[in-house]
Amino acid sequence: MEYTLAIIKPDAIQGGKAGLILNRLEEEGFRIRAARLTRLTEPEAGELYAVHRGRPFYEALKRFMTSGPILALALEREDAVAYLRKVIGATDPAQAERGTIRALYAENKERNAIHASDSEENARREVSFFFSVQELLWTVEERG
Ligand code: ATP
Ligand code: MG
Repeated sequence: MEYTLAIIKPDAIQGGKAGLILNRLEEEGFRIRAARLTRLTEPEAGELYAVHRGRPFYEALKRFMTSGPILALALEREDAVAYLRKVIGATDPAQAERGTIRALYAENKERNAIHASDSEENARREVSFFFSVQELLWTVEERG
């Protein structure tokens, strides 16, 4: 089974959509392996989105991601990385397929409700950014 990282972003927490989004993720077959409600510091937001350093939206993105609490989730499912990207929809909710999480809950291209890792390598990096190996192992049900 594969892991991926999701972040319910400040707009969705503020808007009271966290429960609906979690419900959807579980309905889509994801198991919640670790979860933390936290607030990112500016350096943390910068590290998470380091690939976008220098882009015109980078500073605003850091401000947005530090503007309120987020819910970080380590999720397990078959084909978790690719499947979660499909379930969240396109970055811009105006372009997102109907029924996707962003089509349902995102406000705009920046305030778009949820983050998902975009590759298996980034999933490993991002899961370990938030959670220790011990935190991940505690929650595995099928251990021998
Ligand atoms: P995420 O990485 O959060 O899952 P994504 O992979 O769909 O989103 P990226 O291109 O990685 O999209 O952009 C990261 C985030 O930066 C977006 O989710 C959005 O919040 C913000 N962002 C991206 N492009 C723009 C833009 N043109 N204007 C404003 N904000 C943007
Ligand atoms: Mg991305």
